Amino acid sequence: MPTVVVVGTQWGDEGKGKITDYLAAAADTVVRYQGGHNAGHTVIVGDREFQLHLVPSGIVHGKRCIIGNGVVLDPWAFCAEREALATQGLDVERIAISDAAHLILPMHQALDAAEEQRRGADRLGTTLRGVGPAYADKAARLGIRVGDLFHQRLLRDRLEANLRHADDVLGLHGLPPVDRNDLLTRLAEVAATLRPHVTDTTRLINDSIDRGDRVLFEGAQGTLLDIDLGTYPYVTSSHPTAGGACIGAGVGPSRIDRVLGVSKAYTTRVGDGPFPTEIHGELAENLRVRGHEYGTTTGRPRRCGWLDAVVLRYSVLVNGLAGLCITKLDTLAGIDPIRICVAYELDGRHIVDLPHDIETLSACRPVFEELPGWPDDLQDLRDRGQLPGAALGYLRRIEELVACPVVILSVGAERAQTMAWEDPFAV
Ligand code: GDP
Repeated sequence: MPTVVVVGTQWGDEGKGKITDYLAAAADTVVRYQGGHNAGHTVIVGDREFQLHLVPSGIVHGKRCIIGNGVVLDPWAFCAEREALATQGLDVERIAISDAAHLILPMHQALDAAEEQRRGADRLGTTLRGVGPAYADKAARLGIRVGDLFHQRLLRDRLEANLRHADDVLGLHGLPPVDRNDLLTRLAEVAATLRPHVTDTTRLINDSIDRGDRVLFEGAQGTLLDIDLGTYPYVTSSHPTAGGACIGAGVGPSRIDRVLGVSKAYTTRVGDGPFPTEIHGELAENLRVRGHEYGTTTGRPRRCGWLDAVVLRYSVLVNGLAGLCITKLDTLAGIDPIRICVAYELDGRHIVDLPHDIETLSACRPVFEELPGWPDDLQDLRDRGQLPGAALGYLRRIEELVACPVVILSVGAERAQTMAWEDPFAV
C-alpha cells in the first residue's frame, strides 16, 4: 500500500487542504510534517466549513491524524483548534502529537513581532505566530520539545537555558523578560490537555506503513517557501518540500511511493518577496475577489499573478512530482486571453531555470504565451470530457511545459467539485 506526499508547488495557499481532504477519503493516516499554526487550510463539505491550522486535513474524514516531529506546536493554539473542531462534531481524540515536536512559546511570538517591526520595509511578511523564532531556537539547540512538558526537572532546566538567551534578545528590543513561574504554571495547565495526544509518532507512522496502511503526508505552505529551496529569505523556516516529509515524520525516503504537487491554475503570493508574474490593477482585483484570495490565517489580501511554468517546473524537479493537482480552474472562467509564463527574460536572454537569489529573480521579466480563455462556468463539471476545449488546452499546455501529468482537477471549493484521472494510491 502506498504512501503519498502532497506538497504545494507555489508560494502556498494552492488549495492543499481541499486536495488532502479529497485524498484522505482513501487514506488511513494523515500526517503534518512541518510548519506550525501559520498554515491555514479551508475544507468545505456541503454547507459546512472547517478551518485547519495545525491539525491535518484528514480530521474531517475522521482519519488518524498525526502532528509529526517536524512541526512547531503552539500548545494553546492546538487546544483552541482541537476545541473548535470538537464543537463541529469531529473526532479529535485520535490526534497524535510527536513528543519530539518543538514548542512555540509566548516569547517566540513577541520576538516575531519585534523582529518584523525592526526589519521595517525589508520585513518578511511573517504571520507573527512565532514560528520562525521557534525554529531558530530549535536550530540553536535552545528549543523546548513537547515531550519535555512531562519531565518537570528537564523542563525547568531547558526553559532556564532558553530564557537566559531569550531575555537578552527581548531586552534588545526593549521588551520585558519572561516571567518564569507564570510560564511554568501555564505550561503545566496546557500539558494536561496535550498529554493523551503525545506519543512516539515516528513509531506510529512506520508501524502504520508496515501494516500496509495508506499514509498521506500533508505539506503546509509551498515549495517556493522552503527554507533551503525557496526564494530565500522570503521563506518559511521549515521544509514544505517532499523531502521534508522524511525528516519531519521520521520516515526513510525509500518508504515514500509518490509525490503529488498542488498548483493553482494561476499564482498567488501572500507576504513580500519577488513575484515575476504578478498582475496589478483591475485584473488582479478581479482574480482576488473571484478566487477569494485572502489569507485563511491572517485575512491578508493575496498578490495575484499568471501561472508561472518556470516555478512549476522547478517544483516538479525538487519534489520529484509524479502528478499535478490543479485547483481553482473555475476562477479563470471569462478571462480571455489567459497568459502563462513559459520562461524568464534576463539580460536579453531567455532562461528556463528559477534563479536562486532574489536579486536575479527580481530582475527577471516573464515571457508570456497567450492561450484562449473560456466563458463557461466550470463549477458543475464532474468529468474531464465535459471540459471546454480551451480549458483542456490550457491543462495540456501546462503538462507539456512542466513535463508532469495533471491527475486531479478542482473546479470549486466544495469536496465534490473535484475530478481525479487516477487513484493516487494505486501505484
Ligand atoms: P491551502 O493552504 O493550500 O490549503 O489553501 P487555502 O485553504 O489557504 O486556500 C485555498 C482556498 O481556495 C480555500 O478557501 C479553498 O476552499 C478554496 N478552493 C480550493 N480549491 C478550489 C477550487 O478549485 N475552486 C475554488 N473556487 N476555490 C477553491
